[in-house]
Amino acid sequence: MKIAVLTSGGDSAGMNAVVRAVVKVGILKGCETWIVREGYEGLVRGNDHADGSYPEPPTVPEAASEAHHGHPTNLLANLRFGDGLLLRDGTGDHRGADGSGNSTRTLAGRYLVRVGWDDVRGWFAEGGTLIGTARSAAFRTPEGRTEAAFNLIKEGIDAIAVCGGDGSLTGADLFRAEWPSLVQRLVDQKRITPEQQARHKHLRIVGLVGSIDNDMCMTDLTIGAPTALHRICEAIDNINSTAASHSRAFVLEVMGRHCGWLALMAGLAAGADFIFIPERPPDAKTWEDEMCETVHRHREIGKRKTIVIVAEGAIDGDLNPIRVDKVKDVLRDRLGLDTRVTTLGHTQRGGSPCAFDRILPTLQGLEAVNALLEDTPDTPSYMIGVRENKITRVPLVEAVKMTKAVAEAINNKDFKKAMSLRDPEFAQGLEGFTATASLFKEKQLPAAKRMRIAIIHMGAPAGGMNAATRAAVRHCMKQGHTPLAVHNGFRGLLDGYVHELSWLGVDGWMSRGGSELGTNRFLPDQDLGGVAARFQKHDIDGLLLIGGFEAFRALAVLEEGRQYYPAFRIPMVHLPATISNNVPMTEFSLGSDTSLNALVDACDAIKQSASASRNRVFVVETQGGKCGYLATLGALATGAAILYTPEDGITLDTLRDDVKFLKIRYGLDAKGRSEGRLVIRNEASSNVYTTDMITKMFKEEGADLFDSRSASLGHTLQGKIPSPMDRARAVRLALRCMSFLEEHHQALLAEQQKQQRQSQDGMPTVAAPPESAAVITIQGAQVVWVPVQEMVRDADMKNRRGKMEWWRGIKTLVEDLVGRDQLL
Ligand code: ATP
Repeated sequence: MKIAVLTSGGDSAGMNAVVRAVVKVGILKGCETWIVREGYEGLVRGNDHADGSYPEPPTVPEAASEAHHGHPTNLLANLRFGDGLLLRDGTGDHRGADGSGNSTRTLAGRYLVRVGWDDVRGWFAEGGTLIGTARSAAFRTPEGRTEAAFNLIKEGIDAIAVCGGDGSLTGADLFRAEWPSLVQRLVDQKRITPEQQARHKHLRIVGLVGSIDNDMCMTDLTIGAPTALHRICEAIDNINSTAASHSRAFVLEVMGRHCGWLALMAGLAAGADFIFIPERPPDAKTWEDEMCETVHRHREIGKRKTIVIVAEGAIDGDLNPIRVDKVKDVLRDRLGLDTRVTTLGHTQRGGSPCAFDRILPTLQGLEAVNALLEDTPDTPSYMIGVRENKITRVPLVEAVKMTKAVAEAINNKDFKKAMSLRDPEFAQGLEGFTATASLFKEKQLPAAKRMRIAIIHMGAPAGGMNAATRAAVRHCMKQGHTPLAVHNGFRGLLDGYVHELSWLGVDGWMSRGGSELGTNRFLPDQDLGGVAARFQKHDIDGLLLIGGFEAFRALAVLEEGRQYYPAFRIPMVHLPATISNNVPMTEFSLGSDTSLNALVDACDAIKQSASASRNRVFVVETQGGKCGYLATLGALATGAAILYTPEDGITLDTLRDDVKFLKIRYGLDAKGRSEGRLVIRNEASSNVYTTDMITKMFKEEGADLFDSRSASLGHTLQGKIPSPMDRARAVRLALRCMSFLEEHHQALLAEQQKQQRQSQDGMPTVAAPPESAAVITIQGAQVVWVPVQEMVRDADMKNRRGKMEWWRGIKTLVEDLVGRDQLL
């Protein structure tokens, strides 16, 4: 099969990763791979080679064949067609695949270009789309689509993957539906033969959603939206310091014509005071009062800065647009605030893709090729989506229809329907924003239901710990609970470092890395009686533990201690936060996204240095303890050549293969180009084959072919500033934890009252049920509470990780994407 991939509509980060994945997976599955430059416009224009005799360069350099001892593989046959280098230059002036300048080929007049394995090397780290995108008026016409069909048939292409927004995917579906009639027209016009018609009866098509707005229904995330959110949060984090210095208000406009996802998530992650989104428009008559009242309340208690985020498509309940300048005027005139407007504009599209926008498009690109291979005239054309942690296929038409229905619902002022058509995370995000952004006038719970809730950080610091604490504290203030900060873990509790937190005191915590409370690995069983006495002294009714494997162990200790100490018969919850992502039974811990991004940033810099120096292999050592999550996902996000994890270990046999692989791979590289490659090794992969030893071995074996160096990322992986994803997740999960504590507290109170009524001596002895000491986990598409006792059964306590790890299969994909099996 010949597969072509194109990017269309507005560009977004991650589109290059889609192209890379489709090309590589396509080749691995035995397909010939093509790219279409400039989206549908390129399809319509096609290739200007009248005789169809465009000369292909030799694909396998001689050195490569020798290195491979003459075993041709699909990868070798599709190694390089040179154009990747040219597309990267963007000059249209080709210097030749080997950099020699001998080739006379140029891209002028060629929009459909065959590409090979190495043509898409290193495309991960580049923003935008290297193959170009356009908005094509011609493709909207039947004549334009007839040309597009002709150009595809001319090159013998029968399958296309389209990465773009809802417009592009609508076009894709229409193109496929019309295909037989377009082909018939071409036969009637005698532009193709009946044989060609018979060969190209059916067009296979698949859609991938590339859009920074996250505006497509039936998928949680679109490609490019997480990176845009990164850019927005970086901007707000920068604005925060100047706003606070001058006590200013800032009104920010972010992208999102029909979708408020970016505004909502940015508001949540950056701790904004007020947001305007199209799905939940404020009352036309009262929004100015509401905003001013909220901002005034915050200012009254001493807040020095105000951040208001306005989605590009924000409207009021009467569908009048809400513009940033209007918001600015209101804040200035009514509250007397020194107010500035910042329109982020196209900076939101730019920059290197974040880790998620490399991993998601890679996994989706793989699924897209599978969908194309399995496509039949009877199956619908699919859109590749994602639900929580699962890659999905949904009928393209339905997703487009539902997306259009949101805009229609907004136009019809049916905002309830518009919200219901968004994914559940959107509504939870809005709930989270409302609960954490505003200072509430009234306490929501009656005095009898209010609690004293202790918050403890445990283990190593992880991105999102402070954001989760802020959300928990803000929830407490809203409900009327008392949030108690325990500093320096259980050690600090014993030493008496407990104090009440305030609404304003945690205001800036969303963007702070590390642990504001202080954290350590001191377990409560070192003085369980002392810990119980402190719980009693501070009258603690509920406990929120934020941390990694230690926090889980601490919870297990406290739960067991319930039989001896009544002070522990309270609801207790553990919110996993660790860069290692080694807490059993949950797919994600807070901090794991931050550390993955820190790793990706570091590896981009290392790879650049490695490529610039000479052919150099960098052995990068990561943290992670005995859990290979960070190394594995990091390897996928950076396109590492080799991956070592504690789960798989390192043996002499694998090392021998690794050296052989590197030799073959460097032998295949284009002459005159220096290539850097990454080897990612988790710190605990082997006690014998250390990073230093492997680096020296590669250097020795590499001889003239390649050199090697090592880098240990160490504690830098804890990240400086938490990623937006970790912050947003922190709010969502912390609020769920607080509801959990409230529910179980009320159930325990009810039980206590019942026993009090029945008991003769009036001394109730309520035993807290095991499920009231639980860990909040993310499993597939759901948040699941796991009682800590059950969690212990699923844990590999010796290696401090879960017995089942969802990401284990990814190592094979990492190896596939560097062609390891094909080359060895
Ligand atoms: P973004 O979300 O960035 O706007 P998009 O894919 O929605 O991306 P559009 O400009 O709507 O961007 O569409 C991109 C291209 O897809 C159009 O220029 C056009 O060539 C094609 N297209 C869109 N809608 C249709 C349609 N109904 N019929 C045929 N082609 C279409």
